[in-house]
Amino acid sequence: MDIEGGYRRENTLRRTDPSGDMITVVGGGIAGLAAAYRLQEHGFDVRVYEAADEVGGLAALYDTAGDPIERYYHHLSKSEETIVELAEELGVDDRLEWSIGKNAYYVDGVVHPLDTATQIAAYPHLSLYDKFRLGMLTLGVDVRGGRPRFDSYDDLTEYEDVPVREFVEEHTTRGVYERFFDPLLDAKFGDRKEDVSAAWLLGRIRFRGERDLRRGEILGYFDGSFGVLIDALVDGVGRDRITTGARVVDVGFSTAGGESAADRGVETVTVEAGSGTETHETDGVVVAAMPNVLEALTGYECDIDFQGAVCAVVTMDRQLLDTYWLNIAEEAPFGALIEHTNFVPPDRYGGQHLLYVASYVQSSDDWRWQADDATLEERWLDGIAELFPSFSREHVASVRISRNPRAAPVYERGYLETVIPYHLHEAVGDGVYYAGMASRAQYPERSLNGGIVAGFECADRIADGE
Ligand SMILES: Cc1cc2nc3c(=O)[nH]c(=O)nc-3n(C[C@H](O)[C@H](O)[C@H](O)COP(=O)(O)OP(=O)(O)OC[C@H]3O[C@@H](n4cnc5c(N)ncnc54)[C@H](O)[C@@H]3O)c2cc1C
Repeated sequence: MDIEGGYRRENTLRRTDPSGDMITVVGGGIAGLAAAYRLQEHGFDVRVYEAADEVGGLAALYDTAGDPIERYYHHLSKSEETIVELAEELGVDDRLEWSIGKNAYYVDGVVHPLDTATQIAAYPHLSLYDKFRLGMLTLGVDVRGGRPRFDSYDDLTEYEDVPVREFVEEHTTRGVYERFFDPLLDAKFGDRKEDVSAAWLLGRIRFRGERDLRRGEILGYFDGSFGVLIDALVDGVGRDRITTGARVVDVGFSTAGGESAADRGVETVTVEAGSGTETHETDGVVVAAMPNVLEALTGYECDIDFQGAVCAVVTMDRQLLDTYWLNIAEEAPFGALIEHTNFVPPDRYGGQHLLYVASYVQSSDDWRWQADDATLEERWLDGIAELFPSFSREHVASVRISRNPRAAPVYERGYLETVIPYHLHEAVGDGVYYAGMASRAQYPERSLNGGIVAGFECADRIADGE
């Protein structure tokens, strides 16, 4: 299956002459910066407007006593190739490091490491038969009926409308669903888990990439944070072509005698910044923000539901866990604990230990969304102490909390029919492009790599006159 980890589109042959054409990019997250970078390579003039005071979007950073750290946990999977190629192109590939990110499950008061074949064999909450069926599924082998088949999972579209639970129970065992996948789906999708498709699960299994059965999963991270790549992109685009603190509030169209999308072509963008509101002419627009921004600017309605995220970075004077990623298979006020400094050494952060405490929220009524920072900190630190009695608040130097209402799509059944096309000439008007979380490249998992692929897809279509 092509999971779009690598971007293979030919980008050297341009069919249009870009000289003098100005393309406006709305949003200075990774997708917008990647689109702007590639458009410039194609010879276009670009201008990026970013509403926040800094670029980076969901990959924005906090300071620490050493290197900065992402506000939301970030790492790369081995299956993601375009981001690695881009790092090479920008000359920062020597900062990209691959190390083992250890995983574990917390069940009934015990942390079970699940990285190596031996640890998986020793895991007491799945039977030997459950482990065999789970292992076969993750290897892509369908052993139903006792005869192994190796092509059953090649065409993911066959599983687009199959509920994930039904699929797992049929292709493995009920125990695998209830004791392995259900807690993971709960943490990721909460009460929307029943809506998720089997195609998403299969795609996600392949997305994870390389696993060393003697050591664990190999994950990527930049020495100095993903800010290293963002900074290199900003340099590649040119700082003077990026305006922060500038929100695009309108996209204007010319109409060739009619109001239908076919008659419309993008003509202007209106930007609100500290200095006031200005309208600029443009030959094209790439909206590289969430779909609600696209809707506000163009009227395009996207049917994808999003979930929010609440995520804290807890700075501690000592280590809490032995693993990078801890899934929690029981009642807890958060979905997962991710100890970043068990993946990247604490000496990069002035010796401090950094722990993400994270939850997805399905609705704004969720108490974690409603709670103020002080309440959330209290409940979350209490929750950690309940799981780990040796934990004490005295170990905590600070807790910084971020919230985002559109942190990830809910990959429900039929999802691929709802992704937003790269060029919206049929739906909105000529010259309007979309690169963002609702793009095809952000399936089966939204990622920085997917954002870059989406940005490149738009830039290359503009260059090709498509
Ligand atoms: C909790 C969490 C964990 C994650 N973990 C990983 C991970 O481990 N690995 C990984 O690769 N990815 C991860 N991601 C996903 C990754 O962060 C996103 O896929 C990626 O950053 C999306 O980039 P984007 O440019 O599409 O959108 P964004 O980063 O949202 O950027 C959009 C930008 O547009 C700006 N904007 C909005 N409206 C306007 C407007 N009207 N005018 C101007 N600017 C505007 C916004 O301010 C924002 O900066 C994670 C995300 C979250 C939330």
